[in-house]
Amino acid sequence: MHGFYGRILRIDLSKKEFVIESVNDDIFEKYLGGKGLASHLLYQLNPAGIDPLDPANCLIFATGPITASSIWGSSRYGVFTKSPQTGFYSESYSGGKVPEAIDSTGYDAIVVQGQSEQPTVLSVHPEGVDFHEGDDIWGMDTFETEDTVIERFGNIGPGSRRVGAVVIGPAGENLVRFSVIENDYWRSAGRTGVGTVMGAKKLKALVFQGDRRRELYDEQAVKDCARNLASEAKDNPGVKAYKSMGTPMMVKIVNEANAFPTRYWSEGSYDRWEKISADALHQRCNVKPHACPKCFMACGRMTTVLQGRHAGLKLVGPEYETIYAFGGLCLIDSIEEIAYLNDICDRQGMDTITAGNLCAFTIEAARRGKIDYVIDYGDVDAVATLLKKIARREGIGDILARGIKFAAKEWDLGNIAVHVKGLEPAGYDPRALKGMGLAYATSDRGACHLRATFYKPELSGMISPDQIEGKAKLFIDFEDRLTIFDTLILCRFYRDLYPWEALGDLIHAVTGLDSQKDALQSKAANISTLIRRFNLREGLKPEDDRLPNTFYKKFQRTDHILRREELEAMLKEYYLLRGWDENGEPTS
Ligand code: SF4
Repeated sequence: MHGFYGRILRIDLSKKEFVIESVNDDIFEKYLGGKGLASHLLYQLNPAGIDPLDPANCLIFATGPITASSIWGSSRYGVFTKSPQTGFYSESYSGGKVPEAIDSTGYDAIVVQGQSEQPTVLSVHPEGVDFHEGDDIWGMDTFETEDTVIERFGNIGPGSRRVGAVVIGPAGENLVRFSVIENDYWRSAGRTGVGTVMGAKKLKALVFQGDRRRELYDEQAVKDCARNLASEAKDNPGVKAYKSMGTPMMVKIVNEANAFPTRYWSEGSYDRWEKISADALHQRCNVKPHACPKCFMACGRMTTVLQGRHAGLKLVGPEYETIYAFGGLCLIDSIEEIAYLNDICDRQGMDTITAGNLCAFTIEAARRGKIDYVIDYGDVDAVATLLKKIARREGIGDILARGIKFAAKEWDLGNIAVHVKGLEPAGYDPRALKGMGLAYATSDRGACHLRATFYKPELSGMISPDQIEGKAKLFIDFEDRLTIFDTLILCRFYRDLYPWEALGDLIHAVTGLDSQKDALQSKAANISTLIRRFNLREGLKPEDDRLPNTFYKKFQRTDHILRREELEAMLKEYYLLRGWDENGEPTS
């Protein structure tokens, strides 16, 4: 079928073998590529009930039918596995230049199973894969690893168009449960511990290079889609805002909405927010917009710290989610210090959202006398030390490296631990944005903000944050459309530029498939149900779709609250519209 290579690469690290298999068109017709194909493969190939760190757990890299095309927002890849953080379905996405290198190897998905005896680096290319010893690379941070493997294994052969690598850092090697897979230095497949699965396989890096290109159904129509979008988006205020301020612009917006998680989820606004806002970042640091290939939005911030003890530190970031996690939750009121903590997480290869949540949780544990450890709000050096201890699994760091569920049990703090299914939420408090409560409760990977990005309609006035009845209907419309984004794999921040009709035109131009809204929505629903079945097979219970106690209590300074019955009403509506029973189980 047009838009797909029709083949997957399966790698067995234990036996150092690989096989290239073909994929029937009916799979693409039903699920498209990216998330759709990868979820199908995960469901088919993963043994039921397996430990996420077991060699048989699949680690699947996928690109989509638009990757490496001229489509705006298309330079992304996804990673799919069973999460060591939640024990359920895991998906995580990243941008940068590497998606085009992955795609140039000519597979719709690359499935890694098994476990090496020694640290290993894989070179993936159109003919298969080469296995390299990586003993002397094991222990390097993510930046050193990327430089080393590209220099050592990334010689572009005649005809190769692209080269790129994905890597893990020491945290992934040490099986810290929330380790990331990183590429292009600062881009991460950040959530749910995909880097931990790579570490369990003793796989330090994959280097991709190739010369393949997808054959598209109507090349001219694809070019027209791209040209039209660029001209439509020229004066789009959202595009301008992302380009000029990046995601840190959300600090002001979310703080004003009383949804900015502060002091480990006890407040919805931070009185020192201006010190960690987009303005603070742009005024105090040297910042340039930074874009993935095929992107005019350029949401990334190429930042150089100019002042203070971290002067000279360079990174892409910090993103809004990192600012909320260290700034809001841990009360660190300096954008430079947040950049410093961001850099530690990047080098060690840890998810900044989970890391910030765990540091704030530790602060609460210390304040409540549950642990004998010196750390407090605003103490950036203590937070930095704790991050390094987690990455090395040293002392208290070993407890936190096992994740929030484990730490909460160990310290008898389950009543204040904020997570769903073991994953900590992003920076949108559902007491002020109630639809985010539905998002966190129902997301397959835990408390995720990205499956429907429902903060967008609630913050923009499209729907009242307090509305309960009818909310699930709009939520599903967002979730389904963004599921289709993930089958392609298309950047979230283009969500306003690809409404259903534009998405349908694009998919038709790429694949030739009928892509009316109804057909696409039914594909998205099939994928949601497939993943639901995967999670049920792994032991999902109705209580896993519920929220932590904290969200049912008022903030200390304002009256915002989410009531249990409000979540129950939204959930009931959501299950019904999905065609699931009252326990969230598919009925057909
Ligand atoms: S909007 Fe940001 S994340 Fe998305 S493609 Fe552009 S630079 Fe990459």
